Amino acid sequence: MSFFSAQKVLCVLYPDPLTGFPPNYSREDIPALTHYPDGQTMPTPSSIDFTGGHLLGSVSGGLGLESFLTTRGHRFVVTSDKDGPDSVFEKELTDADVVISQPFWPGYLTAERIAKAPNLKLAITAGIGSDHVDLQSAIDRDITVCEVTWCNSISVAEHAVMQMLALVRDFIPQYGWVVRSGWNIADAVSRSYDIEGMDVGVVASGRIGLAFLKRMKPFDVNLHYTDRHRLSPEVERELGLTFHENVESLVSVCDAVSIHCPLHPETEHMFNDDLIGKMKRGSYIVNTARGKICDRDAIVRALENGQLAGYAGDVWFPQPPPNDHPWRTMPNHAMTPHTSGTSLSAQARYAAGVREILECWLDGRPIRDEYLIVQGGGLAGTGIHSYTEGNATGGSEEAARFKQS
Ligand code: NAD
Repeated sequence: MSFFSAQKVLCVLYPDPLTGFPPNYSREDIPALTHYPDGQTMPTPSSIDFTGGHLLGSVSGGLGLESFLTTRGHRFVVTSDKDGPDSVFEKELTDADVVISQPFWPGYLTAERIAKAPNLKLAITAGIGSDHVDLQSAIDRDITVCEVTWCNSISVAEHAVMQMLALVRDFIPQYGWVVRSGWNIADAVSRSYDIEGMDVGVVASGRIGLAFLKRMKPFDVNLHYTDRHRLSPEVERELGLTFHENVESLVSVCDAVSIHCPLHPETEHMFNDDLIGKMKRGSYIVNTARGKICDRDAIVRALENGQLAGYAGDVWFPQPPPNDHPWRTMPNHAMTPHTSGTSLSAQARYAAGVREILECWLDGRPIRDEYLIVQGGGLAGTGIHSYTEGNATGGSEEAARFKQS
């Protein structure tokens, strides 16, 4: 029995593979995990209608929600056509009760779009990071915003470690020599260093930032962090962490910095010309948090003039980035599309988490506090801990300029 009668659930997911939906997978299964590192349980829906390890995050995968929703009498509309006034998303939004989107191919919920959606009561992020929703408008309209906290935090920490090593060791050009049938070792190593002994820092030591620090510890680097919440003395001691009161202090001593704070008004364009100018010449930045935490053109300038030795990450602004976005072609980068949090392993967790949230919502039961960003006209749960009020969606309409080649 549902608390709500027939609801329209509108879901934005990235397009299916250009090569067709996978007929089979490279692995038989994914590890069965029961808890996250702090003891929080994995998502607990009453059941699931999908196979973990399969592609769930694109349109045909539909997060495995279709039969669950339709057998309960709800409407489920899935689209990847999300940008511009003529998009399916914008048209279907006018009578939607619930929107599900994800950060990889975000259905931006701007103030204008929220104003066109009078029935909208719940915006679920299938993943972590709800900056694609104008949180101020959600607060003002009393829309609940929630995400699947923890679902892909470790996935991202693994990717950030990989990208930091890729930058410092200069992996990408070396791979290039191999695939071009070359063997010029002097060229291949002319920008390659060991990370051992370097000073490595994180901006934010939340779930991902702390997991990144733990994974970097065995590399025998000097670890630093800044966050608006200080870690316990035990954790600082165990990992040998140096705490910095502010980001300026952190970047001035680090060789490599990994960014792990959410995007909100306090962090938008944090890495601008001024802050990058305070870094050691030849520093590296890895940003798997959100593209707009960095000033796009300041990053390009710093790579071109050598203030930065390398930049990597998987987050861009907007998403998808226009085909002429300068991060596609700037020197010494090791960017991926926004993939770190949507491995097949992560998809199983966030699909199950979205189902848990929908079951709670439709049955009139509370959503886990950890999942909440906005509720009852204010920040709530993780939103209070990690965000500030306001809007960070400005400029997202530029995503309409992307054309699939
Ligand atoms: P979390 O809530 O556990 O941690 C966020 C941390 O940021 C908190 O400790 C908070 O105090 C800190 N913080 C907030 N504002 C700050 C500021 N101005 N200065 C310093 N610290 C600040 O979240 P998490 O699971 O670690 O995720 C962090 C972010 O990573 C998400 O909000 C999202 O933007 C991004 N993310 C990216 C992907 C991906 O696929 N690339 C996946 C998941 C999350």
